[in-house]
Amino acid sequence: MKGKITKEYLGREGLRSIVKVSNICTICEKEYAAQNIYTSMYCPECAAEVKKEKTRLRVAKYRAKKLTEENKIEGL
Ligand SMILES: [Zn+2]
Repeated sequence: MKGKITKEYLGREGLRSIVKVSNICTICEKEYAAQNIYTSMYCPECAAEVKKEKTRLRVAKYRAKKLTEENKIEGL
């Protein structure tokens, strides 16, 4: 699922038309402009939080696995 992308026509600059492309964050629903607008679903703040959360989950999973392995050894 991708965020809602809005395009706002701002005018012309010579032959180029100036279009402001903005995206709506799927978490905080705030409008933001990002460079990788077509691949990003979150505003920079939320993206940082999501990244942190993913790292936290990975670490938690790793710890849980390690703990299970330790328990197995103790069980012998
Ligand atoms: Zn956000």
